[in-house]
Amino acid sequence: MTTVSDAVAQVRERIARATQEAGRSDRVQLLLAVKTVDAARIRAALATGERLIGHNRAQELRAVEPELTDIEHECHFIGHLQSNKVNQVMAWAHCVQSVASERLAQRLDRAAEARGRDLDVLVQVNVSGEESKAGVAPEDAVGLAKQVAVLAHLRLRGFMTIGANTPDERRVRAGYESLAGIRDAVVTSGSPGTEDATELSMGMSGDLEVAIGAGATMVRVGTGVFGARPQP
Ligand SMILES: *Cc1c(COP(=O)(O)O)cnc(C)c1O
Repeated sequence: MTTVSDAVAQVRERIARATQEAGRSDRVQLLLAVKTVDAARIRAALATGERLIGHNRAQELRAVEPELTDIEHECHFIGHLQSNKVNQVMAWAHCVQSVASERLAQRLDRAAEARGRDLDVLVQVNVSGEESKAGVAPEDAVGLAKQVAVLAHLRLRGFMTIGANTPDERRVRAGYESLAGIRDAVVTSGSPGTEDATELSMGMSGDLEVAIGAGATMVRVGTGVFGARPQP
């Protein structure tokens, strides 16, 4: 049976190969997507030296994070965030990757201010246009990013997307390339607070090579590390 630490090593190997094949010399970070994974298995993955974990659900974040306080890690939120869960998430998260409206950004900004801290955020963009997917429409992404970037307690660090759900690799790649284009437009805009918005969080277990080819700086991997999830 594959252990969590073997699986992490295999994913790191895939990332290294894809980075090299893309002719890149920068580093692609691995974020462990931990939905439905219990604290013991998350600990096993963090014990390999990984540091970034991403939660989809506020309830799971709140249940699991208190069990991880003795292990150095960085907690990201990557799911749909309801406004009544903002404070729960703010208590633990270093970064919220799923900011798709100015309203949510303002709530996060106020919650960060109340805690006397800053929060890293990514703007989530729906590059595939699939109705089931969260995220701001591509044509509105630059405008939203500029609005988020000026909020006093948020640090705009970049962009996140979930790739198209299709075996057509060209379509998946086109979506990822469009996110890279949005990032470039924002970072070079000269608009206040946008100069550090360089991250591209894109690519999951099934398509991380495609995402890295299109410039991903962070891939989010769940099943590739923890195995198949129970069906909801
Ligand atoms: C579940 C999830 C992932 C990881 O997906 P896998 O296919 O299991 O690697 C990445 N990003 C988000 C937003 C997710 O919900």
